[in-house]
Amino acid sequence: QKQVVPFQEGNASMKALLGGKGANLAEMTRAGLPVPPGFTITTEACLAFFKVGNRISEELFEQIATALKQLESQKGQIFGDANNPLLVSIRSGSVSSMPGMMDTILNLGLNDITVLGLAALTRNEKFAYDCYRRLMQMFGNVVLGIESYHFEQLLHCLKEKEGALQDHDVTAAGWKDLIEDYKKCILAKTGQSFPQHVYEQLRMAIEAVFKSWNNQRAQIYRKINRIPDEQGTAVNVQSMVFGNMGGNCGTGVVFTRNPSTGENTFFGEYLINAQGEDVVAGIRTPLAIAALKNEMPLIYEQLFQASKQLEKQYKDMQDIEFTVENNKLYLLQTRNGKRNAQAALKIAVDLVHEGVLSKQEAVGRIEVSHLDQLLHRGIDEDAVKDVLAKGLPASPGAAVGQLVFSADTAVEWSRAGKTVILARMETTPEDIHGVIASEGVLTSRGGMTSHAAVVARGMGKPCVCGCEDIRIVLDEKQMMVGNKIVKEGDWITLDGATGRVIIGDMPLHEARMTNELLVMLKWADEIRTLKVFANADNPHDAGIARQLGAEGIGLCRTEHMFFSSARLPVVQQMILAEDKEERLKALAQLLPMQQSDFEEIFNEMDGLPVTIRLLDPPLHEFLPNLEDLQRRQAQLMYDKEGSDEERDEVAHLLRKVQALHEANPMLGQRGCRLGIVYPEIYEMQIEAIFRAASGCIENGISVHPEIMIPLVSHASELKIFRELVELVAMQVLGKEKLRECPYKVGTMIEVPRAALTARQVAAHADFFSFGTNDLTQMTFGYSRDDAEGKFLTHYVDQKLLPHNPFQVLDTEGVGQLIDLAVNVGRVVKPSLKTGICGEHGGDKESIFFCHTIGLDYVSCSPYRIPLARIAAAQAFI
Ligand code: ADP
Ligand code: MG
Ligand code: MG
Repeated sequence: QKQVVPFQEGNASMKALLGGKGANLAEMTRAGLPVPPGFTITTEACLAFFKVGNRISEELFEQIATALKQLESQKGQIFGDANNPLLVSIRSGSVSSMPGMMDTILNLGLNDITVLGLAALTRNEKFAYDCYRRLMQMFGNVVLGIESYHFEQLLHCLKEKEGALQDHDVTAAGWKDLIEDYKKCILAKTGQSFPQHVYEQLRMAIEAVFKSWNNQRAQIYRKINRIPDEQGTAVNVQSMVFGNMGGNCGTGVVFTRNPSTGENTFFGEYLINAQGEDVVAGIRTPLAIAALKNEMPLIYEQLFQASKQLEKQYKDMQDIEFTVENNKLYLLQTRNGKRNAQAALKIAVDLVHEGVLSKQEAVGRIEVSHLDQLLHRGIDEDAVKDVLAKGLPASPGAAVGQLVFSADTAVEWSRAGKTVILARMETTPEDIHGVIASEGVLTSRGGMTSHAAVVARGMGKPCVCGCEDIRIVLDEKQMMVGNKIVKEGDWITLDGATGRVIIGDMPLHEARMTNELLVMLKWADEIRTLKVFANADNPHDAGIARQLGAEGIGLCRTEHMFFSSARLPVVQQMILAEDKEERLKALAQLLPMQQSDFEEIFNEMDGLPVTIRLLDPPLHEFLPNLEDLQRRQAQLMYDKEGSDEERDEVAHLLRKVQALHEANPMLGQRGCRLGIVYPEIYEMQIEAIFRAASGCIENGISVHPEIMIPLVSHASELKIFRELVELVAMQVLGKEKLRECPYKVGTMIEVPRAALTARQVAAHADFFSFGTNDLTQMTFGYSRDDAEGKFLTHYVDQKLLPHNPFQVLDTEGVGQLIDLAVNVGRVVKPSLKTGICGEHGGDKESIFFCHTIGLDYVSCSPYRIPLARIAAAQAFI
């Protein structure tokens, strides 16, 4: 079986086999672009490698040797030859892009002999030995596992000794010395010498890349990006080209459009006389690509044309790596560029206008994580006083946190509940856990394409990089700008959109809708069939929801109106009432309050349905805490504090609270069970709804109340309340007005029994709204309040469950109940309206499921609405 594929034989569609990098190198080769020749060792070879215990089989090695022979003849060079040596890079390439997560080795094939050949051939001794020491450094780190700071320290000493500011100021003699130091270092650390045999180098390097698939940072990256562990990585073996051979050489990265703003302008950075990672690692701060136009106009033009060609071919913004060797351009990589949310939307909208993409394709491409970001916050400008420094605006958004200088501290502090900003000279993949734990990232070196910038953009975290005014003193855990000192633990604010670093914790403002987002949402609305409603409990939220595109309210929780300080005493009075008469008094006070809430909400939602859920939670939630009361009573009794009056009051309260106390309140007297025991409570709420409706109708507002009975488990419960609603509606509105008030009565399906008996329940319902929070809780038998903090993470970590079912709907179990209830319910009542109103209503995968089983709507919190609109459209596509 073929486990090695030369670039000229592959293409872009072979991504699963060749990895992203390999497939794109093949595609560029086919398109006639200047790609240094090479071949790809497939992901299948990688999996086979793992299967036989991390070993390259003889068969595979033969295939590699054959491909290498072919490469030798293509290049007219020979691997390991003393006079005309072929050098290669060993590049990992996973199927899903994992930037900076895997390891690359350059200049492989150099040893004490071939380096002489390279020096002679290029008449550039300094260059040849620079390549050799780079190989030893990368090989030592990636293959032999020696931490890179050992090499960096030796390099640093050499530069001091030679008085060299930059790497390229080092002399040939200096590099030779360094190589001897590196050899000693490798021997001392590993007990073995740096391999001189080039095939040995090759074998070890390929093995190391395969193994790097399982290193910790790659595993973490896969976990957060939900990339399957079973994909494996391909390895690309590519002939080297050299950007570090002198002044007419260089290397860089370009984006076909600006990845921060999405603007259609060529964007990127490069370094003259540099190799590979120099630009990405932020070792020197690179030049903007525009400067290349003056420095190497022909190269610039060629690069620009190739970029446009690639963008057209891939129908997307490209991130392209290039190297210039002796005034000749080579392309080393292309991929769909990472971008932030605003850029993603702008690019997609522009591509539609340019006729490259259809609207459906554009909407289909939007990532949920991007929308999350877009709906992010910015800094309240009026508060900004003390701008410490300005760096590059690498990833927009505002972040506030306490300053830390190491990734480990970032993790520790964030575990302790602090919000942190990670400041580093530059970040490397080793810092990834710190980046994840931080609100934002600040670096003092490195450009817009440095590791920190790329990773932060990918995660949607604000990042300011290349902030060269800042001097970080790690030993003292502080950083300085001039004489200003900021210490570990001090609050700072980053503005990733402008690059500002601000002292103190600035107040932030909410996100704003951009034009591109509005356009995209409009397109999404044209596509989707699933409606999007909002969960909104008050007029303010209802207003926001409507602005964000809600087509109705899917859940208005009436009890949320009970918690305000003005109302709570009345609510308590209602609960504590000794008899019905007393309770009715309290209810009479509550009625006008509820009525005015509903009036305002109906006003906001003029013309749209408003689903109002009658009182749901256990009553004790409105009463003082049992233990607090007991403590107070003890104080009153033994310490003789307080008045007799208070003593009586506390005793009374305590009795009542004890009487209402439940061992298992989530399964206790709540939901419609309250209404069964105290029908006057529901009656008051229903009356308030219809009085509000009546008032609105008089003011010309079109009202569509949908009264929802919670926690029904038996059809008989719904039957009773349906009759009650009909009665009260008639009493309040009268025949005339009733015609102008097309109300509905339905239920929340959240007890499994209700779903199972949907046939009976539907007979009394105009709609089913699946309360997927409770339904998940009761279907799994997981107490939501306990599960998430305790055992559920173990289930997810051990992959016993694919997701936390409270975040992503369990389609298999809970979903089956929903599907069943909908199907059976519609048989009884074809007009039955169905939707969900749990947290899941704002989750993409759950929304997809709702679309698939044909629900009419999802209802989610107002700020999730744009996301739900897009997801609903994507579900249709
Ligand atoms: P990553 O996936 O981390 O970007 P790459 O495999 O792209 O790693 O390699 C990192 C860098 O090494 C590239 O950006 C490129 O500059 C350099 N490089 C890789 N292969 C070659 C090559 N054959 N010739 C010259 N430079 C190379
Ligand atoms: Mg790369
Ligand atoms: Mg519920």
